[in-house]
Amino acid sequence: MKGLWWIRDDQRLNNNPTWEAAKAWQSETGGALSAVWVPSRTTPANLIEYPDALPRTSEARSAYESACFEGLRKALAQHGVVAVRASEDLASTVKASPPSVIFFTHGAAHEEQEDEAAVKSTGIRCQGYHSRTLLTPRQAFDRGLPPTYTPFRKRVEALLGDHPFEDIERFEGPQAPTWPFTSLEAEARAHLYAYISEDGAGRHYKTRRNGMLQSLDSTKLSAYLSRGLLHPKEVWNRCLEVEEAVGGCEEIYWIRFELLWREYFQWVAYEAKGQLFRSHGLKQPDPRPTPKGSRKAFELWTEGRTGDPLVDAAMRELKATGYQSNRARQNAASYWIHDLKQPWRVGAAYFEAMLLDYDAASNWGNWAYIAGVGNDPRPFRKFNTHKQAEQYDADGSYRDAWRT
Ligand SMILES: Cc1cc2nc3c(=O)[nH]c(=O)nc-3n(C[C@H](O)[C@H](O)[C@H](O)COP(=O)(O)OP(=O)(O)OC[C@H]3O[C@@H](n4cnc5c(N)ncnc54)[C@H](O)[C@@H]3O)c2cc1C
Repeated sequence: MKGLWWIRDDQRLNNNPTWEAAKAWQSETGGALSAVWVPSRTTPANLIEYPDALPRTSEARSAYESACFEGLRKALAQHGVVAVRASEDLASTVKASPPSVIFFTHGAAHEEQEDEAAVKSTGIRCQGYHSRTLLTPRQAFDRGLPPTYTPFRKRVEALLGDHPFEDIERFEGPQAPTWPFTSLEAEARAHLYAYISEDGAGRHYKTRRNGMLQSLDSTKLSAYLSRGLLHPKEVWNRCLEVEEAVGGCEEIYWIRFELLWREYFQWVAYEAKGQLFRSHGLKQPDPRPTPKGSRKAFELWTEGRTGDPLVDAAMRELKATGYQSNRARQNAASYWIHDLKQPWRVGAAYFEAMLLDYDAASNWGNWAYIAGVGNDPRPFRKFNTHKQAEQYDADGSYRDAWRT
């Protein structure tokens, strides 16, 4: 009897219900357990608004994802489990030698759900787990998913209260901050516990999170949550633990506030399926024709040569590092949509390719939000990039850091 763990964006051995279930199956049945990882799609995306195909995944993101898999592969080898990288989708991969059971973590977005449907259609027994969200679908959709964030947050905060998740094990290793993103689960956990600690930078998170330059301005947990090196429940628990230890801390509470944004977009994507990726997003179709994308505008924007110093710094940073702060992302996206008047999906597709922390639900959900076709009570979010630069980069250090 053979069991297979289909590794997705849940690349960790700690606090992973999917891996726990696969291990339990192995010890109960004595069956042979193996694991397989399917890399992100690299085939170009053709968008009707854009004259050329856009890359799906940059080399840097592919390399980062491969490094995460490599770390997990080595860790699994110590458990006697062989993990391999697939060269095609999972449904095709398992056809030649079908296992008796496949364990996997549910994805949030449309393509991930389609991949799951394809695997289930093989007739192999599948066991899916929600190992990358705080909530289960039942909790998220109880009484319907609110159309905007604030009622969602209030409902979840009332549901979860101040109780830590009981099914999460605490990290006991040495704590140390890491930047740039590591591909190793243990280092990601060490970073989490160092950043969110009684004397860690997380004590100033709410005040500093709009900073764009310093590594400790924000948690830098996004890639670990996106690739699944950390369970969001572990981050949540760590916040609660330190909040309690210091007698309450609004600065750290705000990390949980932002985690709930992530959570919200996960369930929005789960419910919206392909609708999130339409040019009119979650709204009614716009009778006006969809604007065509300009190649020139795309080149200027992606190369950081638009003439707007804040946007240019942000876009150069993205190209060089695969990361931007949330403040930089908001400005870069708003500028593309509302100043350059370009199709939002082309910008979203470029971010998809470039971001090391790319997450379908968070990326497309945020882009749709700024374009005014997502979950925003306002018709659209246009950022005044000059005012934003004055407010969040008053001394110009961020713009200077990324000047050519
Ligand atoms: C246009 C645009 C595209 C984005 N694309 C992505 C993406 O592909 N992947 C991704 O993880 N985040 C995305 N974000 C959200 C956010 O910008 C990043 O999560 C954040 O900048 C990562 O840095 P951090 O971990 O230090 O964040 P922190 O400020 O420390 O936040 C803590 C965690 O909360 C979550 N979070 C914070 N803000 C948001 C938000 N607005 N939406 C969803 N989750 C949030 C993230 O998991 C983050 O790691 C996008 C935002 C915008 C405006």
